Amino acid sequence: MKKAEMSVYKDRLVALRARLRGDVNQMADAALKKNRMDGGGDMSTMPIHMADLGSDNYEQEFTLGLIENEEGTLGAIEQALERIEDGTYGLCEECAVKIPKSRLNVIPYSALCVKCAETLERS
Ligand SMILES: [Zn+2]
Repeated sequence: MKKAEMSVYKDRLVALRARLRGDVNQMADAALKKNRMDGGGDMSTMPIHMADLGSDNYEQEFTLGLIENEEGTLGAIEQALERIEDGTYGLCEECAVKIPKSRLNVIPYSALCVKCAETLERS
C-alpha cells in the first residue's frame, strides 16, 4: 500500500482511538447538544432518556464494526498504527495476502483477511 493511502487509514485510526478513549459523558454531551439543536432550543419539549442515548451509541459502534469490547478494539487500533509505521499495514498477519480495501474501509484496524478471519472464527 502506498504511504499516501496509508495516511488516510492512519487518520481514521487516530480519530477512532480518540473517540473510544473519550469518556461516555463526552458522548452524552455531544448527543445532548445535538438534541437541543434539533429541538429548536426548547428543552421542555425534548425529554432525554439516557437509555435512548445509550442505544444510539451502541448502534454507532456496531456500524463501525467494533469488535468484542472497547479495550480489545483499542489494542487492535494500536497494533494497526504500528503496522502503518512498519509499512506492513494492509497485509494479513496470517497469510500476508493484501487485505481488500473494502474490508479496511469497514474495519480499518483489521489484521486479517476475510478468509483467515473466518478460519479463526471457526476454530
Ligand atoms: Zn489471510
